[in-house]
Amino acid sequence: MKMNAAVLHAYHDMRVEQVEAPAYAEDEVLIRVRACGLCGTDLHIVDGAFAGRWPRAFPFIIGHEWAGEIVAVGSQVKGFKVGDRVVGENHLPCRTCRMCKEGRYNLCEAAGKPGSGHRHFGHVDQGALAEYAARPASLLYAIPEHVSFEEASIINQAAIALHGCRRARIQPGDAVAVLGPGLMGLLSMQMAFVMGASRVIVTGTSRTKRLQLAKELGASETIDVLKEDPIARIRELTGGRGVDAVLECAGTPEALRTGLEVVRRGGTIALTGLMGKQEVSIGTDRMVLDEIDVVGVRSGPNCFQPVIDMVASGRLNARPLVDHVFPLDEVVLALEDFRDRKSGAVREIIQIWARRRGSRRVSRAAARGGTNDEERASDRSGGGHRAGGRGGRGRVGAAAGTQAGGPAELLREHLRDHLRGGG
Ligand SMILES: [Zn+2]
Ligand SMILES: [Zn+2]
Repeated sequence: MKMNAAVLHAYHDMRVEQVEAPAYAEDEVLIRVRACGLCGTDLHIVDGAFAGRWPRAFPFIIGHEWAGEIVAVGSQVKGFKVGDRVVGENHLPCRTCRMCKEGRYNLCEAAGKPGSGHRHFGHVDQGALAEYAARPASLLYAIPEHVSFEEASIINQAAIALHGCRRARIQPGDAVAVLGPGLMGLLSMQMAFVMGASRVIVTGTSRTKRLQLAKELGASETIDVLKEDPIARIRELTGGRGVDAVLECAGTPEALRTGLEVVRRGGTIALTGLMGKQEVSIGTDRMVLDEIDVVGVRSGPNCFQPVIDMVASGRLNARPLVDHVFPLDEVVLALEDFRDRKSGAVREIIQIWARRRGSRRVSRAAARGGTNDEERASDRSGGGHRAGGRGGRGRVGAAAGTQAGGPAELLREHLRDHLRGGG
């Protein structure tokens, strides 16, 4: 069976083309991918920042923030059936090493060892930016019917946000600073409140609408670092004491330096962002003398189910965060949109199967999105740069984009219907 996929042939060279759909083993399922988010790590992978490690070989399919539905199950699979709507973890751990046995399976000692059986989908093993993906059933979680695939595609990131809050040991009543108002930051801010924080301060720039969105989603304070010194302002807001915990969600040297200046004595800084090959020089005396804990946050072990429940119950508001939807054939445009951030999107989501039947569900999700929905609709119809259905610059668009009934055409149809219906 053939499928359309976004295939990376070399760094900076991604093309949408037809490839063979993956085979699935006895303990695996075949998933029809419905939505797949693009994140900073994806951009780093495409740019070659992790050359030789992620991926190890070409051609390679990226994509690890996905949601979809099961279309076939292996003979040994229990607990899942065709038609189930699912999300999945990306690390397949060995389950026998010491880290796995301690429940820290995100740090499985077999990781990175070829032949160990450890797999890392979207990084080392083939990802989900494609019409189909095969996954071990042991990594999957069911998502309820009322959670859209687009919302579900951010569960992977929300799981990291929960893990980050746990690693930062956020306690009821804490003051927390979230540095960086991207998807990770906006989810971490909401999660910090779920964990009991009394106030959460979010820093970023007003170049995009993200800081405004942080405010709308409940941030106690937002600080535009282009206009104000975040260090002085956070100190002022906390009576000179500093915050109990910093959630670093920007992955920049500046954010780390800011974090070290604004955390209180004995506080914790949790680092979520990856910097690629960038190095940071920092003074460590304050870490020593004030016993500052700096912790790394990798993936979201033991976090998927609670996060799914939070999204399902509305405790975590995912809807305004999935605001920029592209069909698969425009994935290069989506990556550029993410890179230059001009559109101010929180998260670029690739809708893999934008078919009419599925579009009703999209419509419903969009209708609940309030003002974002209107923005999105006008973005599509008026702005035209994506609704026009042109392939991406470079090499994308050759295979899937232009034929009648392709994903782009179906998405346009959906949007026309949607606009006619008035949302
Ligand atoms: Zn990611
Ligand atoms: Zn292990």
